[in-house]
Amino acid sequence: YNFGFQKVTENIKSKLIHNLFSNVSNKYDIMNDLMSLGIHRIWKTQLVNELDLYLKYHSQNLHEEVYKNEILIKEQEVIDTSHKYDEKVLNEEKEQINSIDNEQYETNEEDICLTMEQKNNLNNSNNKILDLAGGTGDIAFRIIEKYIYFLKIYKTNNTYCYIDDIIYKKYEQYIPRLIVCDINKDMMEVGKKRAIELDYNKYIMWLNDSAENLKSIKTNSIDIVTLSFGIRNFTDISKALKEIYRVLKPGGRFLCLEFCKPTYEIVKPAYTFYLNQCIPILGMIVANSKDSYKYLAESIQTFLTPEELARLMFEHKFINVTYTTMTFDVVAIHSGYKL
Ligand code: SAM
Repeated sequence: YNFGFQKVTENIKSKLIHNLFSNVSNKYDIMNDLMSLGIHRIWKTQLVNELDLYLKYHSQNLHEEVYKNEILIKEQEVIDTSHKYDEKVLNEEKEQINSIDNEQYETNEEDICLTMEQKNNLNNSNNKILDLAGGTGDIAFRIIEKYIYFLKIYKTNNTYCYIDDIIYKKYEQYIPRLIVCDINKDMMEVGKKRAIELDYNKYIMWLNDSAENLKSIKTNSIDIVTLSFGIRNFTDISKALKEIYRVLKPGGRFLCLEFCKPTYEIVKPAYTFYLNQCIPILGMIVANSKDSYKYLAESIQTFLTPEELARLMFEHKFINVTYTTMTFDVVAIHSGYKL
C-alpha cells in the first residue's frame, strides 16, 4: 500500500509522525474544529453512539447491583422513553436532570454499602475500553460522558429515574476503566490536562505505547477498542490489527473511524482543493506547521479505500466486518468482532 512515504523507512516515518503531532499537540483540538467546520464532532458522536448498547448494558448491570442492595433511586419522570439519544436531546435532558433538587431525596448511608462479594464481582468484571491513538482524549471523554449519563439515569417500568449525585459518587468507582493509548506523550499531556479539568482522570489510564506493540496490555483483556483518525498514521497497519485482535476479549469489538476518499464525482474536486490548498494554510496560520498539515492532507488522499480496509480487517481474522460512510463518503466507521 502507498502510505505517502514510499521512499522512507518505517523508522523515519514513525519519527516524522511523532514530531508532527508533537508540533501541533497544543493546537490539535482547535484545528480539528476549524478544518472540519466542527463536523468531526458529529463523526465522533456517531462512533460513540455505536457503543450505546455496551454502555447501557454495563450501566444496567451496575444499577441492578445497586438495586439489589436496596439503594434508593428516586422515581422521577424526567424523560420520554421514546426519544433517541442525540446530542441536543441529551443536553436538554441533562439540564432537566440538573434542575432536580437533590435535597428532596433522603440518602441513607447504610443503603449504599455493597457486599464484599458484589464489590469483588464489580472489580473483577474487568470491563475495559481501549482508545487507541487516543491523542488528546477526545473519544475517551465522549465515552465517559455518555457512560455517566447512562449511569445516572435508571429505567424502570418505562420510566426514567435519576440517581442523585450522593449515591452516584459511592459507586462511580466501579465504572469500567478507559485506557487511552498513544505513541505521543505531548498529545497525551494535553489530554491529561483536559481530563483533570473535567474531573475524568479517575476513569482513565494513559498509556504511552505504539499500536504496533501493545506490550503492556494482556491478551483477551479488552472489551472494545476504539480508534479514531489514527490508523492511517500507523507505520505497520497489519501489525496494529494483529495487536488489536490479540488484546480484544473473544466477542470484543473493534471500531475504527477514519477518513476516506469521497466517491461522489461532484464533491471530489472541491474536496481535493480544500485538502491540498486550504488545510496546509490553515495549519500554518493556526498551528504554525504547514508541513504537518500538508502531510495530514496527503495521507488522507493516499489511504486505503473503505473496502480495502474492511478486507484487511477480515484478513486479520475479524468477523462481521461492516462499515458505514458519512458526509459524502469523506469518513467511514468500520466495525469488526473477535471470534
Ligand atoms: N484519536 C484522536 C482524535 O480522534 O482526535 C487523535 C487522532 S490524531 C489525528 C492521531 C494520533 O495517532 C496522534 O495522537 C498520534 O500520536 C497517534 N499515533 C500515530 N501513530 C501511532 C502509533 N503507531 N501508535 C499509537 N498512536 C499513534
